[in-house]
Amino acid sequence: MDEIAADRSHPRYQSLLMRHRIEIAAKEGLLADSAMIAHGRGEAFDYLLGERTIPSAMNATKLAYRCLAEAKKPVISLNGNTVALVGKEIMMLAAKLNCPVEINIFYRTAERMEKLFSRLDNIRTKEVIDVEILGMNPNAKIPGLEGPRANCCREGILNSDVILVPLEDGDRCEALVAMGKTVIVIDLNPLSRSAKRGTLTIVDELSRVVNNMLDFAEPLSEVALDDWDNKENLKQALKHINDLIQN
Ligand code: ATP
Ligand code: MG
Repeated sequence: MDEIAADRSHPRYQSLLMRHRIEIAAKEGLLADSAMIAHGRGEAFDYLLGERTIPSAMNATKLAYRCLAEAKKPVISLNGNTVALVGKEIMMLAAKLNCPVEINIFYRTAERMEKLFSRLDNIRTKEVIDVEILGMNPNAKIPGLEGPRANCCREGILNSDVILVPLEDGDRCEALVAMGKTVIVIDLNPLSRSAKRGTLTIVDELSRVVNNMLDFAEPLSEVALDDWDNKENLKQALKHINDLIQN
């Protein structure tokens, strides 16, 4: 599945691999039509950040991991792009954190939900990963949202205290924050509504973040969430872009 024309020595191999995974998932019907646009916006910001994990993002990743590891009821919310880009790695992370994943897509259709579930279920079987996959039978609603995008599971998103939402929509991010949850956002755009509204934002590329978290040996952040200044964190990302352009 990961066979791409460019070889590993290509300077932008990782970026091309991610693009390829999106292409394949789109062909398989896992994604909404707007998925490639969302991915392209992410790529543009990644270029501006130098396509690497900047120091402020690593600090945010360490704190995020600590929050998830210390949570009472952590959950990882998965949309189509996340499953396409890091399906296997995110299942491994959920196993490491001993938490469920919940498929929660913005443009919900039964067909896409089933395809995403079956992709994750295959990974679970093949890699022998013991993780609960929620989302197929929603039995609760996120207050303040209208329509199918409010749907969620009581035993997952609704009752969670800490939620990891890679590539979340800004509106839903805000609704989750309003529920009193610690909302950890992964978004390459430090100016997106999700980035600004999350409790803790990791301005970094999704696959790098998940692999960084998989590498952590223990909850190693010395910073506590109470001392975290998310606005300052977003400013650091913008400053990094500015410095790159100046140098
Ligand atoms: P909002 O203002 O509601 O947050 P948005 O601008 O984020 O909207 P979306 O459709 O939610 O619009 O776009 C997806 C977001 O995900 C973009 O901000 C983009 O930067 C980010 N993104 C896309 N691919 C990746 C990736 N691989 N890793 C991290 N972030 C990504
Ligand atoms: Mg967003």
